[in-house]
Formats: sequence, structure tokens, C-alpha cells
Amino acid sequence: MMYFDDFQISNDIKKAIKEMGFEAPSPIQEKVIPVILEGGDVIGQAQTGTGKTAAFGIPLLDKVSSAPYVQSIILTPTRELAIQVAGELQKLSKFKRTRTLPIYGGQSIGHQIRALKQGVHVVIGTPGRVLDHLRRKTLKLDRVHTVVLDEADEMLDMGFVEDIESILKEVNEDRQTMLFSATMPQEIMKLSKRYMKQPKVISINKGEVTAPSIDQVYYKVLERNKLDSLCRIIDSEEIDLGILFCRTKKGVAELTEALQARGYMADGLHGDLTQMQRDSVMKKFRDSTIEFLIATDVAARGIDVDNVTHVINYDIPQDPESYVHRIGRTGRAGRKGLALTLVTPREMKHLRSIESEIKMSIPSEEIPSIEDVVEKQQASWKQQLISIIEADEELTFFEPLVNEMLGEYPSEKVVAALMKVAFHREFTGEDDSYDFGDTGAASGMVRFFINVGRNVQLTPKIVIDEVSELVGIPSKSMGRIDIFENFTFIEVPEDSAPFVYEALRYSRLNGARVNLEPAKPRPKREKKF
Ligand code: ADP
Ligand code: MG
Repeated sequence: MMYFDDFQISNDIKKAIKEMGFEAPSPIQEKVIPVILEGGDVIGQAQTGTGKTAAFGIPLLDKVSSAPYVQSIILTPTRELAIQVAGELQKLSKFKRTRTLPIYGGQSIGHQIRALKQGVHVVIGTPGRVLDHLRRKTLKLDRVHTVVLDEADEMLDMGFVEDIESILKEVNEDRQTMLFSATMPQEIMKLSKRYMKQPKVISINKGEVTAPSIDQVYYKVLERNKLDSLCRIIDSEEIDLGILFCRTKKGVAELTEALQARGYMADGLHGDLTQMQRDSVMKKFRDSTIEFLIATDVAARGIDVDNVTHVINYDIPQDPESYVHRIGRTGRAGRKGLALTLVTPREMKHLRSIESEIKMSIPSEEIPSIEDVVEKQQASWKQQLISIIEADEELTFFEPLVNEMLGEYPSEKVVAALMKVAFHREFTGEDDSYDFGDTGAASGMVRFFINVGRNVQLTPKIVIDEVSELVGIPSKSMGRIDIFENFTFIEVPEDSAPFVYEALRYSRLNGARVNLEPAKPRPKREKKF
């Protein structure tokens, strides 16, 4: 087990990593960072979502000095990725004050030129726009010591090979070149032979991982309703002891606070606690003073409790090993355990890759409706009240207040208000659901605008197949599809529209990056008389 502190990197960066809430390096980071720090060329392969950005970003930023010129260039396939990578690097270099700049097409070149003039250490750009700046001589790469080709497979897919080669020819020969990719097609190996020096290839090819025989399900949740969905799920389950997993320390802190505010008996465990605080949380968990323990993978590592009834992946784990590790915390000592995973539309593909690695398919279940939850809970609330009444405890203490209230308000109201206080539940789930407004769709449907069409060879079949696969809805349920030269309209059922929206925004169709927006209603034809 490794920590970021084990790397030979400056304290500024360690401090930033801490602040970002990363506790331990992901597998690709653990393997690749020490090799990059040695200075040679590196090829890193790991699936999407495994932390490749920080894997090259940490050693890269460590190497960048305060000298006022471009020292490093990172090429990414799209503008969204350029912005995303720049954001991650900015966070990592927060205490070092490295100047990073994303440059991409679609943004005013004048603005980028002014920014470049002010002195930038690390440029993150799409190949086309970087080349444009090189030709204008507004960007010089002769003193670059580190080059990264990020998401190389996607860049090749998008036909950037020649642009990349032209750019690499402009970079100082004496440099470190890194290439990161989720997959390793032949063309990548060819490119690396031409432009890299004896690269070390590091690949996170997960060996066999077998999931223990624990009941597993996943729930499709919307990013924006995630907390509410979680509450409905846990309210409809009979949970004695549950461990909730989050990706970061920050996530743990936020979820702990949110659940406590909603009246759940929950506490969080993360790497920043002292041993004493940690012991105290664990004691509460063992004694069942709390029913939910919220933890990161690292913090949960030492947990050894037998009667955990539920493991809930509030954030989907980064890799299959971690999935297997997490769910193995329940179902111990011959007891029954249940592993639940929340999956947002954009994480569906990630779930599929976990399923393929663990060689089993995880069944899905619907998020319980508010009615289901209330129905389920009523029995337990009723039981709690009955047991208090029947225990015949001293309740005289409350009698004056009871009499006063009953004199002023109808008894149903008084009891309902007390139950609200006692059971802390507010069902406000509908507030943050999407409202797409009038999109000009048939009734019961929502119409979306997609910014590509025949220009990327879309056909109705491709749209139906890919959308239904990506969102996990039956292809039959899709409505009208109108494909034009440069854009497309699709109609989908109202109840799957939020999933379509979250899954397809900045996603891909037929290999092309797309964006999707709710459509505007069609203009009404003037009535002719
Ligand atoms: P990839 O490039 O492999 O697809 P990213 O670099 O975009 O993956 O990382 C995916 C997410 O994981 C990001 O939100 C990132 O901040 C987060 N992340 C990266 N490394 C860690 C880590 N060691 N611990 C927790 N979260 C991490
Ligand atoms: Mg990436």
C-alpha cells in the first residue's frame, strides 16, 4: 500500500493533492509516477476514470520551474478534455502557482495570444489549435522539456495523427515524451516508435478478479438527484450496518454532513482523522450507535466488522479490484450481505467495464418511489410508536404540552407534526428534477437537439442503437428521429429524458463528440385565412 507521501515530489504538490481529497494513488498512478520521475519516456495504459491525468500531471508539475516560458505541452483530443485537464493541473499546482493555459478551437485566438504573451508554463491544447499558434509563431515549443499525448487513442480516432506529428517536430529533441491512452491500437505503437525514446510501457491490465457471491444490484441515478436517490434507497432497505463509499475525503465529509442533517445516524471515516478519532468512530459503528459509516477506499481498508449488512457505492469504484474489495466488506461470517451501486448515466460505460472484468452482470433495480418509501417506513414508524406506548413508560412529562396542543389543533395535525420531528424525513425529491420545458415533442416525449447529423454518418439505426445502449433504455421506446446535414432531433419518453440528457451531453455518437440540448419548440405556422 502506497501513499502520495512516498513519492519524491515537492511538498507544494503533496499539499495540493491533500486538499483535492485524494488519499492514495490509484493503481496507474502508483506504477507510473515513479517511472516518470526517473525521466524516461513512458506509455501508460489504463481505462477511463482511473486517474491518468494526475498520473502524468503530478510528476510533470513537479518538474516545471518558475522560468517564464512554455516548458510542457499536453495534447488532448477535445476542447472539453483540454479544459478538464487544465482544471486538474491548476488544482494540483495550487501552491506552486504554475501557469497553465488551455488552448482550443472555438475560443478567440486573440484572447489566447494575449494569455500566452503573459507567460505560461504548461499549455494544454487540441492539436489543430496548437498547430495554428505554432504557424503564427505565437507559441514556441523549443524549450519544452515534457510532452504528453493524452487520450492518444481518441486523438488518432479523430484523425489528428498528422497534426500531432507536425507538432512533435517543433518540440525540442531533448525532451521527455509521455503517452496515455485507454486502449493501445497498433497505430499508437507505430507513433510511439517514431517519436519516443525506448518508452517504458505500463499497463494496468487487471488480472482475474472474482467477485464474492454477494447479492449485487445497481441503481441508475441522476447526478443532480444522487443524494435524494440514495436516501430513498436506504429508506426502503432494512439496513443494520451499512458502509457507504465515496471517491474522495471531501466526498466523505459532504455526504456525512448531508446524511446527518437528514437525521440519519451516520459518521465519516477518512485519512485525516487521528487514531483516537478513528477509534471512536469505529467504536460507534461496532456498537451500532451509528448505522452508516461513510468512507473512502483507503479509510475502509482496516475495517473488520462482521455484521455489515450493506455496502453502498455512492460513488462507483475506480476499478474492478476496488469494487471487489468494497463489496467484500459485507456478507462475512456466513451472514447475508447486499452490495448496492449508484451509477450516473455517464458512468454506465464504467459499470459495464467493471462487469466485464468481474465476469458477471450486475442486475439493475429501480429507485424506490416516494410512495414506496413511505409505505415501507410506515410499518417501522408504527412499530416504534407502539413499543413506546406499550412499554408504558413515564410519559407524564409531556402531558401538559400534549393537552395544550390538542386544545389548539386537530389531533391528526399534532401527531403528524410530531412524527415529522421524530423521523426527520422530508420528501423534497421532485424539486431538483429536470424541467426541459416545451421542446416541441409529441405528448409524453421530450425532444433533444444534437449538434451533429449526416456529417458524421448518423443514421436512425445508429442513433437508436447507441442511445438505447448508452442510456440503457429499450430501443423501441425511442420516438421520432430527424437527421439533417449538421444536426439531429430525437424524441425520447419523458421519464428517460433526464438520463438521455446526462448520458449524451458531451458524449459520443458514431465515434463523434456530440453535445445535446433540449430542443426549442417548433415555430407555430401562421394560420392562413
Ligand atoms: P482518466 O484520465 O484515467 O480517464 P481522470 O484523470 O480524468 O481519469 O480521473 C478521473 C477522476 O478521478 C477525476 O475526478 C480525478 O480528480 C479523480 N482522481 C484521480 N486520482 C485520484 C485519486 N488518487 N484518488 C481519488 N480520486 C482521484
Ligand atoms: Mg484522461
